Amino acid sequence: MDSREFREWSRRAAEWGADYRETLREHPVRAQTRPGEIAARIENAPPEHGEPMERIFADFEEMILPGMTHWQHPRFFAYFPANAAPVSVVAEYLVTAMAAQCMLWQTSPAATELETAMIDWVRQALALPTGFSGVIQDSASSATLAAVLTMRERALSWQGNANGLAGMKPIRIYASNQVHTSIDRAIWVSGIGEANLVRIPTKGRWRGMDVAALEAAVVADKEAGLLPAGIVACVGGTSIGGTDDLASVADVARRHGLYLHVDAAWAGAAMICPEFRHFWQGIEGADSIVFNPHKWLGAQFDCSVQFVKDPDSQVKTLAIQPEYLKTHGKDGIVNYSEWSVPLGRRFRALKLWFLLRAHGLEGLRAMIRDHVRWSEKLAQRISETPGFEIVSEPMLSLFSFRHIPPAGGDSDAHNQRLVDRINDDGRIYLTQTRVDGQLAIRFQAGQFDATEADVDEAYDTIVRVAAMLDQVGVVT
Ligand SMILES: *Cc1c(COP(=O)(O)O)cnc(C)c1O
Repeated sequence: MDSREFREWSRRAAEWGADYRETLREHPVRAQTRPGEIAARIENAPPEHGEPMERIFADFEEMILPGMTHWQHPRFFAYFPANAAPVSVVAEYLVTAMAAQCMLWQTSPAATELETAMIDWVRQALALPTGFSGVIQDSASSATLAAVLTMRERALSWQGNANGLAGMKPIRIYASNQVHTSIDRAIWVSGIGEANLVRIPTKGRWRGMDVAALEAAVVADKEAGLLPAGIVACVGGTSIGGTDDLASVADVARRHGLYLHVDAAWAGAAMICPEFRHFWQGIEGADSIVFNPHKWLGAQFDCSVQFVKDPDSQVKTLAIQPEYLKTHGKDGIVNYSEWSVPLGRRFRALKLWFLLRAHGLEGLRAMIRDHVRWSEKLAQRISETPGFEIVSEPMLSLFSFRHIPPAGGDSDAHNQRLVDRINDDGRIYLTQTRVDGQLAIRFQAGQFDATEADVDEAYDTIVRVAAMLDQVGVVT
């Protein structure tokens, strides 16, 4: 592709992106595609000779687009949001054009310095105390892995990387049953082993860890000669928004010298609003916090901010300096690849800078407040509708509900059918979870272009499809 064509196709892509957003409501939210359908249409082998861009682009529109689930759809109420605010898409385009590599200060000085500045902007936006610095990772999973590795090395006096875990005391990590599966994977990958992830029972309105049980588990492990290393707490768990009482958990961490990592991947965005900060009271006691601006806040994927209180511990765990990566005589500079597992790093700070400047914190707060309000209102309406029950009340903009099978049939099968029918219908998109072993349907509002009318349409769709199921009866 020469420069003239690059110009032309970049323009076409930009036009396409704007058209796409404008016409999203016309598409079904979840791809209505059967497994293998798209794969069957793709040529089996790469072409020997270049093809015209016209044809490549036409195939994208014709073959690929119908197989996409539209995360930017205003009626996407499944999982958690993955917003790509247009301004962050523009920043991403510039980053891609530069092919920036941001492993060391000197490989992209502006990227490193903007990253440091953006971490501090976000710290202030969330009202975290000074003393937290941080790094932008690709995903919360990577940030949690970095934190778990740091817990491990800190507990082993930095001997794990050198000598492996054989012959070491078993390391113990504590978390509730509401944490994301990325915690399990971090435990596997770090060699700690699932058997050493101690699940603490939860209690209370927000299903936080039973702090007395947490402390008892730590004490028992110490007495048994095991090595308690850290706690992973969550604010806004993926299933129903499970949230730990951070102040009490941090107390236990402090008393026993444990490293505390807090996963607020989704809910962290709402902490730009002072009225929601009660959810993470005590956050200043954390050693590490992860929050994904690529979810609710609107930074195009990927952009995961990890705050750390003591970067030296993480750098001591992850930094490796072969000769070709040494930047001689550049003391005082930051090389962010030393804070993360991958060496190569994307320039993720630019989209955050564009986003925060274009929307302002007030703009973002207004959006988040709307989503929370609409969600609470929808939960209220559903709770007042005969045949429905609320399973978990709104934690920010997330709640779950269930439809009671009319003839007293199998509730799980009935609600799975309901959610499948709703998603086949295409007007809205919802996902399910399990609460105390039983299926529940999740709802969250968080898409940038969503309106209250979209949430009303969710209500109408849920009630209409449930009524249809009632008519045909329950097949289990
Ligand atoms: C989304 C989410 C994750 C995983 O985030 P990735 O960035 O996809 O790794 C982890 N924890 C919570 C609470 C989440 O909501």
